[in-house]
Amino acid sequence: MSEQQTDLDLVVIGAGFAGLAMLHRARESGLHTRVLEAGDGIGGTWFWNRYPGARTDSECYYYCLSFSPEVVAEWTWSERYPGQPEMLRYLNFVADKFDLKRDITFGTRVESAVFDEGSGTWEVTTDTGESVRSRFVVTGLGLLTEPHIPDFPGLDSFTGETYMTCRWPADGVDLSGKRVGIIGTGATGVQAIPLIAQEAAHLTVFQRTPNYVVPAQNRPMEPDEIADLKARHYEILQKARDHSFAMPFEPGHGPAGDFTADEQRQIFEEGWKSGGFRFLFETFDDIIVDPAANESAAEFIRSKIREIVHDPATAELLCPKGYPYASKRPPAGHDYYEAYNRDNITLIDVGSAPIREITPTGLRTADASYEFDVLVLATGFDAVTGALTGIDIRGRDGLALKDKWADGPATYLGLTVHDFPNLFTISGPGSPFANIPVCIEKNVEWIGRALDHAREHGGVLEATAEAEADWGRQVQEVVSGTLLPQGAKVHSWFTGTNIPGKAPVVNVWFGGANNYFAACDTIADKGFGGFTTPG
Ligand code: NAP
Repeated sequence: MSEQQTDLDLVVIGAGFAGLAMLHRARESGLHTRVLEAGDGIGGTWFWNRYPGARTDSECYYYCLSFSPEVVAEWTWSERYPGQPEMLRYLNFVADKFDLKRDITFGTRVESAVFDEGSGTWEVTTDTGESVRSRFVVTGLGLLTEPHIPDFPGLDSFTGETYMTCRWPADGVDLSGKRVGIIGTGATGVQAIPLIAQEAAHLTVFQRTPNYVVPAQNRPMEPDEIADLKARHYEILQKARDHSFAMPFEPGHGPAGDFTADEQRQIFEEGWKSGGFRFLFETFDDIIVDPAANESAAEFIRSKIREIVHDPATAELLCPKGYPYASKRPPAGHDYYEAYNRDNITLIDVGSAPIREITPTGLRTADASYEFDVLVLATGFDAVTGALTGIDIRGRDGLALKDKWADGPATYLGLTVHDFPNLFTISGPGSPFANIPVCIEKNVEWIGRALDHAREHGGVLEATAEAEADWGRQVQEVVSGTLLPQGAKVHSWFTGTNIPGKAPVVNVWFGGANNYFAACDTIADKGFGGFTTPG
């Protein structure tokens, strides 16, 4: 193990969308920066999630970086929702264009980051035995990074092959002729299931909670459309920044209650054809706040499931009931429900008869046993906080972030933490869950200004305890007027309830990404109120 000390202005942890954008911005301020990345390549989420069917759930022309007009002009997307390989090629294109990789160290997992009061610097250590000292640390770890593997008894006893979707081998997996069992029907499982079913001899899907799946309506991009979107990129970006979920969508038709049942159905039909998140945001404006509007949308989706799935018993099992649509993050489907019409797929309800153990040849639930050759775990993530608390981050007086957040995360703007000076968390807890690249670039823009400000005012920027507490109150207040907290009862990562024992707290800002961006801009414009900048 080699040990080496380097003095840096900035250490960025993670080389996904966030880390790349941050590195580029830091170079503009002339900061001596190093990015530390656990993976062997750039991409973050798009590096690790290589499972069959992995692709964006947002349309290509706003799920991308905007900091470079040249990239916007030069890169051409092939599909409405790019697949993982295309997304990874895109991020490499961006990185290579700006020669970003020269400042990135790959295959290096950060183990700890400790603030030294005396020097006002962070000491960052890695699993390669390296130790670097830096004035600022920015984390770009992603919201959905730390895998969640349920504590199934007997998991190690399985004699077949086991794969986590978020660690799918880069060379792929040959599933042909094999019996596959998959646990999990979240956004990941919903993408993977139709493709695994096409390849495997048989697929058994173990579903605990059915999801509301709206088809994405993927298709190739047309040359004229591409030219138009490129020409209007920055107009579209502004529209996204003005939207509560950072998507350049048209408003809905108003409250669902203003329309008759027939009219509602017609509007939902149009939303279904538009696909993906447009169904949620461009139909009616009150779906996530009004129980009746939500139930209309939910019932429309159930009617579609019953229409598509031939076997009535399977259709009923797939119909979500007892929780509002979108109170768990709704997946986008690609022939998802259609897949259940295949002869080689079986749906098992592990909500009513839970998984008891993994056996050497399959698994056993409360009422039956199942056999398969390959086990696929699409069981989600310790979201939002998991990647941050997985690093031993210590602020003033040795305070561990993990301890500070034991009862739920506390941040100011999702970006900074009291007692952790000069630490910035892109897409941290308390920041919006919305179209991620747009949020990331706004975070990066703000952090760039904050770093410049800190350097002009004595080198330290730290959220005050009052500002942090006030932000925490606002995060909980804005969500209380919505139906989103109800997702907690069906293990939603929005509320941490997908992880047994995790504090059940809404850990993202649902008060509108647009309002959040405005709040952050105002704070920066007014000279960083809510922060102390001791010399
Ligand atoms: P997830 O939504 O948390 O789903 C995990 C699945 O595993 C759920 O079906 C869950 O059932 C099941 N599960 C967990 N523990 C279980 C247990 N003990 N027994 C039986 N089933 C169990 O995770 P995900 O599908 O990986 O998606 C996470 C997030 O990643 C998404 O919400 C989305 O934000 C993001 N994502 C995005 C994309 C995209 O944009 N292209 C694609 C994939 C994922 P319960 O529902 O009952 O908990």
